[in-house]
Order: sequence, then C-alpha cells, then structure tokens
Amino acid sequence: MSIQAPGPIELPVLATQECQYCGVVVPDARYCGACGAHLVHEGPHAARRLHSYAAFPDEPVLRLSSVTALFPHLSHRARAPFSAGLALFVVLLVAFALAGTSAPLVALCALSVPLLFLLYIWEVDPYEGSFILPTGICLVLGAGLGTGWAIIGGSYVTKALEPSVLSRFGSTTSIVAALVVPAVAQVLMIVPVMVVRFMQKGDVESLDGFVAGATSALGFTLAATIDLMSPWLSNGQLTHQSFLTNLTQVFLRGVALPLTSALATGLVGAAWWVTTRSTPSAARSRWLTSLPLALLVAFSVQIGLGFADIAALTDAVIVVVHLAALGALILAVRVGVHYVLLHEAVHVHIGPPRACPHCAHLVPAMAFCPQCGVAERAISRPHRASPARPADEVPTV
Ligand SMILES: [Zn+2]
Ligand SMILES: [Zn+2]
Repeated sequence: MSIQAPGPIELPVLATQECQYCGVVVPDARYCGACGAHLVHEGPHAARRLHSYAAFPDEPVLRLSSVTALFPHLSHRARAPFSAGLALFVVLLVAFALAGTSAPLVALCALSVPLLFLLYIWEVDPYEGSFILPTGICLVLGAGLGTGWAIIGGSYVTKALEPSVLSRFGSTTSIVAALVVPAVAQVLMIVPVMVVRFMQKGDVESLDGFVAGATSALGFTLAATIDLMSPWLSNGQLTHQSFLTNLTQVFLRGVALPLTSALATGLVGAAWWVTTRSTPSAARSRWLTSLPLALLVAFSVQIGLGFADIAALTDAVIVVVHLAALGALILAVRVGVHYVLLHEAVHVHIGPPRACPHCAHLVPAMAFCPQCGVAERAISRPHRASPARPADEVPTV
C-alpha cells in the first residue's frame, strides 16, 4: 500500500471588502486586518472597539484584570496558568504570615511577582534577537538603584512616620517622604529603560518597551523590598505587631508595590517604544499613546500613594487606597496599550495564510487577525509564524 504525501493546502477564494474606516481592501471578516476596526458593529465606536481589547479581544478594554494588563504578550492558553500562579503567590503570602515565618515571607514578598514576570519573558521571548542582555541590564541596574533608593529614601519615610512628625504633616521631612522619595523612585525605575532603549536597534515594538519598563521596576522593587523588610528577620516583627498590621505590610510590599511599579513603568516603556504610522488611525485619540501622558500617570500614582503612606491611615484604609490605585492603573495601562496597538499597526498588506495563535482560525497574516481582532504585535514572536494546517482541520475566514 502506498501512502500519498499531503498536497498543497486548498484555500477558498478570499472574499474582500473595503474598510470604511481606513479605506484598505481587506478580507471580508469580523475585524479589519489593517486597522483593527470592528466591521460587524458599525458606528462611531467601531474603530475604537472598546469592547474588544487589542491584546485579548475576548475581554473589554476596561476590565480589572491584572494578569492581562501585566502580561499583554501572553498566549490565549497561557492566561489561566499565569492567573493561577499569581493567585498561588497571594495564598502563600497569607499562609506564611499566618505561620509567622519571617524568612520565607520576606523572600516571597521580594521575589514572587519578579519570578512570575521572568517566566513570562521566557515564554514570550521579547525583543528582536536575544532577551537575555536587555533583561539582565533592566534587572541588575534596577536592583542596584533600588538598593540605593531604599537606603537613602527609606530613612525619610521612617522619619515621616514617627509620631512627632505626623503632627506636622506639612513639615519638610514629610513632604520629602511623600513627594520627592516616590518621584525619585519612579525616575530611577526609568533609567534602565533608557539604557535598553538606546541599545536596541532594528524593528522595535511597543510591547518590548512595556517588558523593559516592567522588568526595571521589578528589579528595583525586589531590591528595595529586601532592604526595607530585612529588619523583620531579627526584630520580631511578626510577634510584636498585630496580624492585620503584618498582613497589610505584606500586601503592600509583596503585591501592591511590585504590581503598581511594573504597570506604571511598563506603560512609560510602551509609550516610549511606540512607532505610529504617519496617517492617523481611525481609532483617533493618539494622545493616549504619548510619552508625556504615560509619565504623568506614573508619577501621579506614585506620588499619590506616597502621600497616602504617610497620612496615618488605618490598615484597612491604606489597603483600600492601594487597591483603588492599582485598579485605576490597570485600567489606564489597558487603555494605553490598546491604543498603542491600534496606532502601531503599520503593515496593511494581506499576508500568507496561517493559523491565528489566538483563535486558531486559518486567516491571512495581517496587522490584526480578521477573525478575532487580536493585534499581531500582541502575539509573541515565537507564535507568529504558526504553520498553516490543512484547510479541512481549521475553519477559514
Ligand atoms: Zn480598516
Ligand atoms: Zn484570531
């Protein structure tokens, strides 16, 4: 019996239409492959498609999801494991706080989010070429700057938290602790991003900038957290303070600080890296992708939290304030990344057929998947060149 080799893939003739938003002739499907506009729901908001986040089109842009905000390059199937990983770290933090074990608690606060982010970098392989050098620079330089900041800036925060200073909220020490210390921290987190930006040559993409920003911030917070929490190993913090006070500190150091810093600096990196086409996209609002706006968001959140931290709030209120800031930042980052991806789509040609890594449909390679609308640049590079499977195994556009 002879076995016939599989023949070339049989593809139907591609039906096309002219997109009413960008004027490009694109496949007749749910989304415009050139500008990403939603072609089924017509109207003034179709080009902005706020119901369909460009990195995860099955989610609305304004959703409070920290995982899809912090890991925009993540593949569809990897979203659940990363969500479970983040939840597991939070459960372990509470468990170690309950058990009163200082060393694992400090280590987990410092390392949990950075480790998860390194796993993400390994999974999505950012930057053109190797990710090892830029990631190493961001982590090591960020950690060095974080150590220096914690040694110098931490003493100002400690002084501002002393009762004698609390009665003088407008004193120089408290102003420095609330305003200057967090602002300097944000500047220092951006320094490694500048170094990597000037090093990177060739085809740069905005989500590479996001990775650089988040990595720098996480290197910074890792070192700062170890420095600020190291006294816990010897001063009996877990036995002398109430459980709720310790749990609040664990939440602030291990969850809120790294996530807030990574999102804020990641947004700055994405805005810095973005390259938009000369003709404005139909999505408009390009100002949402601008670097000054990203810097304004980052510094506003950091300084706002700096004032909250020295305002003698109760544990419950300070947790609520940090959660509210984190929620607002998640939404700001998702809006920023969404518009960055909409405006960054510069290739309008209809490419060869391939299986979309997000929805698995057989579609022509374009700036946006014509079927599910995911932005090509939100797909990690290793997954972009998925070989096309036979036409009878996957649905076509
Ligand atoms: Zn279009
Ligand atoms: Zn798709």
